[in-house]
Amino acid sequence: TAVALRLAAQRREVDQLLAPLRLSRADLERVQALMRREMELGLGLESHASASVRMLPTYVRGTPDGTERGEFLALDLGGTNFRVLVVRVAQDGIRMASEIYVIPTAVTQGTGEELFNHIIECIMDFQLKQNLMEQVLPLGFTFSFPCQQLGLDKAVLLSWTKGFSASGCVGQDVVQLLREAAQRKQHLGLKVVAVVNDTVGTMMSCGYDDPKCEIGLIVGTGTNACYMEEMRNVGTVEGEQGRMCINMEWGAFGDNGCLDDIFTDFDRLVDEKTINAGKQRFEKLISGMYLGEIVRHILLALVEKQLLFRGKPCPKLQTRDIFQTKFLSTIEIDGLALRQVRAILQDLELQASFEDSLLVQKVCQTVSLRAAQLCAAGLAAVVEKMRENRGSAQLAVTVGVDGTLYKMHPRFSQHLQQMLRDLAPNCTVTFLQSEDGSGKGAALVAAVACRRA
Ligand code: ADP
Repeated sequence: TAVALRLAAQRREVDQLLAPLRLSRADLERVQALMRREMELGLGLESHASASVRMLPTYVRGTPDGTERGEFLALDLGGTNFRVLVVRVAQDGIRMASEIYVIPTAVTQGTGEELFNHIIECIMDFQLKQNLMEQVLPLGFTFSFPCQQLGLDKAVLLSWTKGFSASGCVGQDVVQLLREAAQRKQHLGLKVVAVVNDTVGTMMSCGYDDPKCEIGLIVGTGTNACYMEEMRNVGTVEGEQGRMCINMEWGAFGDNGCLDDIFTDFDRLVDEKTINAGKQRFEKLISGMYLGEIVRHILLALVEKQLLFRGKPCPKLQTRDIFQTKFLSTIEIDGLALRQVRAILQDLELQASFEDSLLVQKVCQTVSLRAAQLCAAGLAAVVEKMRENRGSAQLAVTVGVDGTLYKMHPRFSQHLQQMLRDLAPNCTVTFLQSEDGSGKGAALVAAVACRRA
C-alpha cells in the first residue's frame, strides 16, 4: 500500500543519512593502525613534532606499591568541577575530604592571573574549613590539560581544551603560575610536588588496588588515555631503564587530518562551533561535551528532510547544547517506555510521535555506539603495543577508568569492551572504575615522590 511504501522509502532515507556514522570492522582496524602509527611518531625524538597524539612523558615511573603513607593536599582542575582535597594515605587505606568550587566561565576564559588567584583563594578557603592553615602539606596538582612536562613538578601548558581559554598561560609552567599566585595572595605554605594528568591520577588510584592497572582512561567531558611505556621506547626522555607513564593526549588524534574520512558532516558542524575548531578531533567523536551536539545536528537534518516531527521547524532544537549528552543515557536505557523519550523531547518543545521517539532513540544509539567503538580502536592500539613491548603472546592488563559518560551511559562500556575483545584478541583487558581518581591519584603521585625524595 501507499503508506507502507512511503514508510519504506523513509526508512531508506534515514539509513542513508546515518550510514556515514556506522563504522565497519575494517574502518575500526584502520583507526587502530593509525593510532598505533601516531603513537610511534609521538614517542620518537625526531618525529614527535609531527604526531597528532602528543605522547607526553609524565615522569611517573611506577604505579603504587602499597607502602605509600602520609597526608597530602590535592587540586583537581580540568574536569567539570574544580576541587580541593586533603588525602590521608595510611596502612588501612585512603581517606579524603574535599570541597567543590565553582569557577565562573568569566574566570576560565579570563586572564591567567585571575584564574590562578581564584584557585589560591579556594585552597585558602579549604584549608581554613579543614583546619589545615598551619600545616605545609605536599600538594599534588591534577591538571588535566596537555602539558610538556620537564619534571614531576614542572609542566608547561601546551594548549587549553574543554572550554578553558585563560590568557597568558599557554607556554608557561603551571606550577610557577600557581606559586606566583600564592605569593600575590600571601599564601606562604604551598609545597607543590607533582603535576598529574587526570588519566595518570586514574591509573594510579586504580593501581593502588590492582597492580595490573597500567592504563588510565577518561571518557567524560573530554577523552584521553595514558599507559606505562618502556623507557627504551621513549625517545623524548633520556634513559633506557624501566618504564614511564605516557599521557597520550589522544583527544587530538586526527588533528593532522588522518581521520578525515571518519568525520561526517554532522561532526564538522559541531566542530565549527567550538572554541577550538579543527582541534581535538578524536575527542569530538567520543566525549560528553559533544555527543549531544552531534545528535542535535542529526535531528535537525532529519527534520529538514521531513523525516522527523513531520518536518515541523523546531526553534528550540536550533539552540546549541540544548540536547545534553545525559539525554542519550536516559533515552538508551533498556526497555525504556517510549513515552519517557517523548517526555524528554517534550521538554525541548518537540511533539514526538511514537515513530519519532523510536527514530530519536536510533540516532542516539548510532552516535554512542560509534563513540564506544572508536574508543575501543584507540585502546586496542595501546594494549597491543604493550603486549609487543613485553614480547609476550598474551597480555592481561587492567584499565582504570573515569568519566561520567563511561560510568552513566547504559551501553558505552559494554560496546567498548566487546569491540576491544574483537580488535585485540590476544589481550585480556579488565576495566576498573576509579573512585575519585583525580584526587587520590595526585596524592599517590605526591606520596611516591616524597618517598623517593
Ligand atoms: P570530567 O571528565 O570533566 O571530569 P565528568 O566525568 O563529570 O567530567 O563528565 C562530564 C560530562 O559527562 C559532560 O560532558 C556531560 O555531558 C556528560 N554527562 C553528564 N551526565 C551524563 C549521563 N548521565 N550520561 C552520559 N553523559 C553524561
